[in-house]
Amino acid sequence: MPELPEVEALREFLTDRLVGNEVARALPVAFHVLKTYEPPLSAVQGRTVSAVRRHGKFLDIVLADPAGSTDPADPADPAGGDLHLVVHLARAGWLRWQDSLPAAPPRPGKGPLALRVTLAGPAAGGAGFDLTEAGTQKRLAVYCVRDPAAEVPGIARLGADPLGPGCTEADFAELLRGENRQIKGVLRDQSVLAGIGNAYSDEILHAARMSPFKIASRLTPEEAAALHAAMTETLRSAVARSRGLAAAQLKREKKTGLRVHGRTGEPCPVCGDTVREVSYRDSALQYCPTCQTGGKPLADRRLSRLLK
Ligand SMILES: [Zn+2]
Repeated sequence: MPELPEVEALREFLTDRLVGNEVARALPVAFHVLKTYEPPLSAVQGRTVSAVRRHGKFLDIVLADPAGSTDPADPADPAGGDLHLVVHLARAGWLRWQDSLPAAPPRPGKGPLALRVTLAGPAAGGAGFDLTEAGTQKRLAVYCVRDPAAEVPGIARLGADPLGPGCTEADFAELLRGENRQIKGVLRDQSVLAGIGNAYSDEILHAARMSPFKIASRLTPEEAAALHAAMTETLRSAVARSRGLAAAQLKREKKTGLRVHGRTGEPCPVCGDTVREVSYRDSALQYCPTCQTGGKPLADRRLSRLLK
């Protein structure tokens, strides 16, 4: 699943390619993908992309009002204002940039293609992007809205951006004080911190040498400060590594840069101990016992069941 660093890199990648270009066509190929119906998706056609933004793990492609009005409450122009094509890639979704899309519309079918956006104009030359989703769990979501913060429930609920101005060391300590649950769950809760998922929460806790089971509200001020530093450093360096990479390369870069996440059984790159995991019904966390839990393995219910 793409998290803050990959979505931020995608945002930069798309800013270079989309801003100033007109959208010729936006075509949902898998019908479950579009979560809104008013305004219709066809409303983005003929509009020019003015910006690409990020809210947590959401991408927000801003389409300027051709009439120039940016006030949705303008009574003289009730349909006026910017439109936003908001994308959440979820677990198995991805964006595939295409320098030249085929002219014939894609056929709905069982393939991974979920939505296609084609740019207009001779400069664009039929370029655009496909949103794809692998696997059978279809969670990729696209919203066509006027006000993302009000109309996309996942954005309305978002907490602080961990790299934004609202998440200083003091803000972060304050957030943790109210959380009487395990730090692993707090870090990846989008309503507390926007953009961190299962992979980077493992990486941040490993960098901070902290147990994922530690209760957030019980962190000392020193521990909270160290965790904040590990969080910003981990995310910033992941954004720096991803920057400038084409969409197709981002997944591989993410995997290469991870030190414990997804590396059960491999040696910890810091101390050489074996990376262990705790598994849950539909996910797993990884950690290094020597770096994070004083050498003690954490209880893993699935493993203990297997050993009985
Ligand atoms: Zn280690």
